[in-house]
Amino acid sequence: MKVSGDWLTRAETQDVLALLAAPGHRALPVGGCVRNALIGAPVADVDIATDALPETVIGLARAAGLKAVPTGIAHGTVTVVAGGLPFEITTFRRDVETFGRHAAIAFSTRIEEDAARRDFTMNALYACADGTVIDPLGGLPDALARRLRFVGSAPDRIREDYLRILRFFRFTAWYGDPAEGPDAEGLAACAALADGIDGLSRERIGAEMKKLLSAPDPAPAIAAMAATGVLAHVLPGADARALPVLVHLEGDLPPRWLRRLAVLGGEGTAAALRLSRAEASDLEAIRTGIGDTQSAAALGWRQGIDRAVAVILARAALSGMPPPDDWQAEVLRGAAARFPVRAADLPDLSGPALGARLKELEARWLAAGLRLTKAQLLA
Ligand code: ATP
Ligand code: MG
Repeated sequence: MKVSGDWLTRAETQDVLALLAAPGHRALPVGGCVRNALIGAPVADVDIATDALPETVIGLARAAGLKAVPTGIAHGTVTVVAGGLPFEITTFRRDVETFGRHAAIAFSTRIEEDAARRDFTMNALYACADGTVIDPLGGLPDALARRLRFVGSAPDRIREDYLRILRFFRFTAWYGDPAEGPDAEGLAACAALADGIDGLSRERIGAEMKKLLSAPDPAPAIAAMAATGVLAHVLPGADARALPVLVHLEGDLPPRWLRRLAVLGGEGTAAALRLSRAEASDLEAIRTGIGDTQSAAALGWRQGIDRAVAVILARAALSGMPPPDDWQAEVLRGAAARFPVRAADLPDLSGPALGARLKELEARWLAAGLRLTKAQLLA
């Protein structure tokens, strides 16, 4: 079996692989790029696995005039930049059991060991420079069948890193076969070990949830998270029921994780996912909009297109009432509208009186569908 694609054949990728291969090292694209090329999904970035030690990778790259940054040296990862493209190059590793709980790592020269410490069989696939797939664990049929299975025993792998529970739902949403649903053994292990999520950093949880909610249709995976009790550990008080309706109403709109997050509800979401200040205020504005009755046009004017779309669709998903027929045109009309009266149009007023009058005119303008002209408002 061979994979192909611009991500593999372009000069930057081939140059970086040759850099390591020339002195006799193995250098193999691994993980997401191979998986996605196999199933026909777009390849975002190329991760490379090698038997060369990190200092060797840095030395070879710099000798060739390439930038090499030790981005995750503790895990054996060096980022090499070629032609402006970053490649994460990670030395083969094996898990070393320390005190029976956390897996420490050691470098390895064996690809089988490197594959065995990865999370899912479809992520433990490698490719040669010519595209030939190397499949140490039998992950190839799983990838082609869109079957997400843990490498080895699911409970053992989860106990090593509880983030793998969330990765299980993320990859199920993106690459699982929707007709088959999540792998039963993996699902049972996630349900049994859901408590372990409480010990994860909020940053790691937030990063996974954003990726999960950005999937074309995250609703079945989120429903499975709710059914297994995982969702309650991630977002206390969340309710997954409106999400499939929202995704349906979205139609061809580009997926937005924040819009999906807004219909899940729950308390303390911004802290639970360590959202940035801008993300938290976006979420807050959308939730406030869901609870009020502003028109699509008024929302477009006040909140901009993205938030207005989120509010209109979330309201419909949560209430079960379809959005108004012309809501898209109305949002766009509102976003493009300008309130026609300026302070200079009210020369007799100043200070708080001026502010109050402008507010009153603005309310009248909004109530009349953002259609009144300056002359009508001042009359
Ligand atoms: P994408 O980048 O498209 O989200 P990916 O498969 O490249 O998907 P990454 O999170 O970038 O996912 O990880 C790269 C590879 O590293 C994975 O394919 C997997 O083999 C391994 N990996 C990453 N995180 C873990 C983890 N927590 N446990 C085990 N293996 C992991
Ligand atoms: Mg990746």
